Amino acid sequence: MAPRKLAAGNWKMNGDLAALDQIDALARDHAAPGCDVLICPPAVLIHPMAARVSGLADTIAVGGQDCHAAASGAHTGDISAVQLKDAGASHVILGHSERRTDHGETDAEVTAKAAAAHRAGLVAIICVGESEAQRDAGETLDVIAAQLAGSIPEGATARNTVIAYEPIWAIGTGRTPTNDQIAEVHQLMRDRLTARFADGDQMSLLYGGSVKPGNAAEIFAIAHVNGALVGGASLKASDFGPIVSALG
Ligand code: PGA
Repeated sequence: MAPRKLAAGNWKMNGDLAALDQIDALARDHAAPGCDVLICPPAVLIHPMAARVSGLADTIAVGGQDCHAAASGAHTGDISAVQLKDAGASHVILGHSERRTDHGETDAEVTAKAAAAHRAGLVAIICVGESEAQRDAGETLDVIAAQLAGSIPEGATARNTVIAYEPIWAIGTGRTPTNDQIAEVHQLMRDRLTARFADGDQMSLLYGGSVKPGNAAEIFAIAHVNGALVGGASLKASDFGPIVSALG
């Protein structure tokens, strides 16, 4: 079986209830997408967005952007994977570089969060990526291999885990790696996942970092790129829709 194709939007800390109209437009223009489509809005929008998409034949899935490793308890300001699931989420992004930088998340914490997501029945989208200094120092493949080894729990399968390669220097900058650089990292990820997990050859591998309507088709043509994690260009259906079409 080939890996599932996934176009995932990460709204980050953007959007409000009025922005849910973008979901209607996306569903109208892509009534039968040829790939899985996911939007991860801020936590306060997960439940209203899930309610909106369930009225739209569920062609769009809804996800969180982080979760706590515990199922419940005294963790002010945090949200558990169980609560995300209850609110209507099917996926959760974990270990995004903005979480690793802003909140000091380590590989071990990402692993614990992903295990919690799996227990709650969520698909974990685990992010890895090198800094510009690491790329310039020729350390990219070592960094990605170490993050992969350290950030994915035992028990990960192609059904409950997606990996996103997001070079930190490409996020929100309009800069992207060359096709050869993306191909090199995705080949390494495929090799490592296949060696470690029984169905690692079927795990979906996303590229993220300045994906736009204008570069999506070219990026999706690269071997072992099974979709994208899209930030800025996921906020408007007029940008995200063409990316969905380029994948499906
Ligand atoms: P960007 O963000 O598409 O705005 O570069 C990608 C991401 O951070 O997931």
